[in-house]
Amino acid sequence: MTQDNQKRIITMAHGSGGKSSAELMAEIFGKHFKNETLDKLEDAAVVEVTSGTYSIAQIAVSTDSFVVSPLVFKGGDIGKLCVCGTVNDLLMMGAVPRYLTCGFILEEGLNIDLLDKIVESMAIQAREAGVTIVAGDTKVVEGNGGMYINTTGIGQIPKGRKVSSAGCKPGDVVICSGNLGDHHACILSHRMDIHNNIESDCAVLTDVVEGLFAEEIEVKAMRDVTRGGLGTILNEIAASSGVRIELDEESIPVSDEVKGFADILGLDPLYMGNEGKLIAVVPGDQAEKALEAMKASEHGKNSAIIGRVLEGEGTFIKTRLGATRRLDVLYGEGLPRIC
Ligand code: MG
Repeated sequence: MTQDNQKRIITMAHGSGGKSSAELMAEIFGKHFKNETLDKLEDAAVVEVTSGTYSIAQIAVSTDSFVVSPLVFKGGDIGKLCVCGTVNDLLMMGAVPRYLTCGFILEEGLNIDLLDKIVESMAIQAREAGVTIVAGDTKVVEGNGGMYINTTGIGQIPKGRKVSSAGCKPGDVVICSGNLGDHHACILSHRMDIHNNIESDCAVLTDVVEGLFAEEIEVKAMRDVTRGGLGTILNEIAASSGVRIELDEESIPVSDEVKGFADILGLDPLYMGNEGKLIAVVPGDQAEKALEAMKASEHGKNSAIIGRVLEGEGTFIKTRLGATRRLDVLYGEGLPRIC
């Protein structure tokens, strides 16, 4: 938000997940809602259930609103997306997702058969993810037949798991669970009426996460690489942990088709949104074992070690030509209504 503007207004950039979104969070929501849990800015809040003075359980809570356009796309729809997005945010804290609530905002004129299909898709995805939809709400507003969904998720954190964006130390290694940019390229292809085979990667990442814990990997931090892309998310982790993250450009997985698509449109896969990819930060001496575990999972088969954690600050990338440059957070609008 520019300070010299007399009348400050919301712009599409405030929804990008990048720099403007972070400023809005800090200047408005963070200012008024400030508390120890929210201030951690994790994918999901971790709260304690206590009995007397004893903590008896740790619960992860996350909420997310879905405004994607178009409502149906190759590889998914807003129904599948709203389950995957919230469930993945719970998983990123090491939680076992259990319950979901859903709030629907429907515009007048929405096709009821389409709504039926989207809700069915939510139900199928929720069953697959092992979550039960336990509460919901519906509102109807004037409009042009569109719809929006908010989902809130609750998960239980098994004893002993402590995953946090603030948990990274020099010597740790960054692993990415697969090809970047698929969801972004898919949504943009639909909007621009470009015909290709790029599908959204929209998926629940339970297999990747539980694969790591099954191998007893000491997972330091995890984030799903959504809006804002890898560049933004790694900057947030580097800031929370007070470390420098250095990526190796050569090792970052992107499919040939998305690479070609991004080249033509001048997009950088490091800032493209995904809906079924995560990065995990693990101790250096467990990196190979963690990589193997991730590669063995269906949604992690293209996993790659992409960088390391060093002393210092910020996020940097070693380019193919051997130079090192700073990788900033996403500036500007990104792709509006990508999720
Ligand atoms: Mg997230």
